[in-house]
Parts: sequence; structure tokens; C-alpha cells
Amino acid sequence: MPEEKKMRKELLDKLPGMPALLNDPDVKSLRENHPTLYVNDIVRSELDHLRRTILESPPEVLKEIKADEAQVIQRALKVAKRALEPSVKGVINAAGVILHTALGRAPIARAAQESVAMALEGYCTLAINEETGKRGDRHLHLDRLLAHITGAEAGIVVNNNAAGTMLILNTLAQGGEVIVSRGQLIEIGGAFRIPEVMERSGCKLVEVGTTNRTHLRDYENAITEDTAAILRVHTSNYRIIGFTGEVPLPELAALGKKYNLPVIDDLGSGALVDLSQYGLPKEPMVQESVRDGMDVICFSGDKMLGGPQGGYLIGKRSIIDSVKKNPLTRALRCDKMSYAAHEATLKLYLEPDKLEENHPVLSMIVEKPESVRRRTQALRRRIAKDLQGKAELAVIPSETEMGSGSLPGKSIPSFALQVKPLIKMTPDCLGEKLRQGNPPVYTRVAAETVLFDLRTVLRGQEKAMGECLKTALA
Ligand SMILES: *Cc1c(COP(=O)(O)O)cnc(C)c1O
Repeated sequence: MPEEKKMRKELLDKLPGMPALLNDPDVKSLRENHPTLYVNDIVRSELDHLRRTILESPPEVLKEIKADEAQVIQRALKVAKRALEPSVKGVINAAGVILHTALGRAPIARAAQESVAMALEGYCTLAINEETGKRGDRHLHLDRLLAHITGAEAGIVVNNNAAGTMLILNTLAQGGEVIVSRGQLIEIGGAFRIPEVMERSGCKLVEVGTTNRTHLRDYENAITEDTAAILRVHTSNYRIIGFTGEVPLPELAALGKKYNLPVIDDLGSGALVDLSQYGLPKEPMVQESVRDGMDVICFSGDKMLGGPQGGYLIGKRSIIDSVKKNPLTRALRCDKMSYAAHEATLKLYLEPDKLEENHPVLSMIVEKPESVRRRTQALRRRIAKDLQGKAELAVIPSETEMGSGSLPGKSIPSFALQVKPLIKMTPDCLGEKLRQGNPPVYTRVAAETVLFDLRTVLRGQEKAMGECLKTALA
């Protein structure tokens, strides 16, 4: 294919060399004001990337590639500037998903933020026995709190709930069989699938029942001398409706007792308060699982609970103690920042009356649609004049999602600011400009408009968000 070869050669010949790039005035100024070697490295890897693209792309892509100096410099500058900014930065979530996994799930409470800052200021009591001054047990930090709040005998926290599930299975059932209902073989985003988790934990999965119905006798018939545990998984991110049936937890607990088998409950989100009091479907409560006799229960720290990433394991003290002795626990343990934030978050639950005020996730859930509407109207009034002729603004009914697989199929009535660009800009393009703003704003694009759901926008962020929208449309 001489034609294609010629195209590649032309592009490669056109590519500027490193000296030309590094001497460009804009690149030069970047190199002078920031770590020079880092900027050089970024520019070089951009150039290498473009060279590889020219060598490896099929002809139809080749036609689109431009390799002249100005464009390569523009591109390298853009990449370098982004690399010099913090990569993890604060954003405004106007996307209307409360537990937005990609945006860090639960926004953590003020008290938890302060505890983290305190723990990080210097040294802290992470794993020290304060009486003896000798090495202590970091797992004890939350033991009493978890017992008090949930009613379980003991509790610890590890890296996340995925880690918690693996630890429990590995500790209680390595080399043995674990019985699970077919209706509960879930996949959570990010490659967390119960059958694979089971395998990696060293257990053999024994599926019982059918997709829609599983009976107590299905479990009982599957028990052999190799059975090591029974697992219940909350089908957090989907719902089976119609002719369905799962075994109630107390019956599962009784079966476990009868055969002397531990019953494990993976609750996923796991709520510590009853969501039905806010008109939402009831998410299974941790306290009820304890009361129903589950031997060990795991749930996430950063879903409904509203804390940082973590996986709580609570239940019988003997089981929690054997988890602590599992060498894998060392690999999956939390650091000082997490402990500080977990403790402060759990302590919020000791004062239920103040929870709605102090707990950001609950505050978002309980805000009345009317209140969201008023805040949205206020935002609209504030920016309407400046955006005249640039965008059409309307306050429309909308829906907030819980996110993170919590409350599937159910949303919270809300209101949104609907923005329809009148200038030559697609809604997708406006969304992108908002994401690149300072602070970045995440929105939703629907029906040729951009939607801002203020339920997930923290109080006090509205003004900055309005400015970001004005800038994006300027
Ligand atoms: C979310 C979820 C997990 C994983 O929890 P992470 O804290 O994200 O690791 C495991 N099991 C269930 C049922 C879940 O809903």
C-alpha cells in the first residue's frame, strides 16, 4: 500500500521535534514556572503518543490526523496544564445522583472532615494502647460504637465492602461450599460479581433455587458436609418483581443454627436509619439484620451510611475475632484518615434528632421538593439577566437518584434548572465546558438541554455554580 505509507511518512516528516516544542514561548513559560523536567516529560510523551498514532492508525483515521507544530503545541499545552493542576479536585455535583460513585459517593459530614484534619496534623492514636503506651489494636476504634448502634456484639472496618465480603468468605469458608440463592448472584459495577468474589475467596459457590424464587428447602437440600456457610446478598442494584420469593432472614438464621453453619449477610448499602419515614422504599436496615439473627453482616461505609470508603463487618465476636486474625485483613485495613472519618460519621448516629441537619446524605434526602424549587428559582433569578439571549432558563420538575445501586427503580421528586443554549453551542458542549470550569460542575444532559439538580448541590455552592454557568456560556 504505497499510498498509505506515503501518508504516514508525510505526517511523520511534518511532526515537530522536541527542541521546537520546548522553545515555543507558551511551553517555555510553563517550563519556567513549573517543575521543568515534569513539563518536558509531558511534552515528550504527547509527541511519542502522536508518533505512535501515526504509525498504528488505519488509513481512515490517518486522514484526520494533523501533525503541524501549532496543533501539537496546543495539545501538549492542554495536557501539561491539566497535569499540573490537582488531579483529585472538588467539584459541584448538579447531576442529581446523591451517591455518585464517580464523584466520590457520600459527601462526608463537617464533623468527619474536622476529625480527618486533626488526625493528619501530626501523629495520632491510630494503633496505640493509651494506657500502656504499647502497640494497640486499630480495630478497636469502632467496636463499641458499632455494637451500640447496630446491636451486634462486635464490629470492625476494612478498606471497602468488596474487601469485607472477601474477608468474611475467606475467613469462614475457604476450601468449603457456600450456599447462595440464584436470585442473589449479583454484579455490582466495577467487576464485583458474587461468583467471582467467591472463587477468589477460595470458596465453592453452590447456587440454589431459581432466579425468581428460592425456598428454605432449597437451602436445606444443598447442605452437605462440605458446606461452610450460607450467604444472603441484598440485591441492591436491581429488583425482581412479580412471582418472587426469598427466604426471610429469621428462617435462614434458624437453618444456620440447626446445622451449625454461619449465615453471612452482604447488605450492600445498609441503612442505619429507616428510610421509609422519608417516604422512600425501605432499604434493609443493619439493626434488623442483627435482630434477625445474621451471624455476620457487611455493608459499605460510603453508601447510605454517609462516611468515607470502607466496609463494615459486624456480628458475633468470635467471628470478628477470627477475621482479625486472617492475614488478608492486614492487606485490607484502613488508614488513619479513614478511622478518623468513620468514627465521626458513626457518632452522628448517636444523636438521631440532629442527623438530618448534620448528615449531608440525609439532608439531601429529606429536603422538601418545594425547598429545592425555591433554591432553583433563586439561582434562576440571580443569573437570568446576564444570560439573556444566551440561554433559555426554566425551573422544571425533576428526579434525584440515590445512586450506588441504592433504591433501584425509585427516585426522589426534585426540581432542576433547565438550560437551553441559544447561542451556537450543543448541550453536550455546554456540559463539557462546565466540567472544565473552576470549580468543575457536573450536570445532566436531557432532551437537548442541560439540567442542574440542586438537591445534590451543597448549600452555599449555588453562587459559584451560577458564575460557572455564565462563564461557560460567555
Ligand atoms: C456496593 C455493594 C458492594 C461493594 O461495596 P463497596 O463498598 O463499593 O466495595 C458489595 N455488595 C453489595 C450488595 C453492594 O451493594
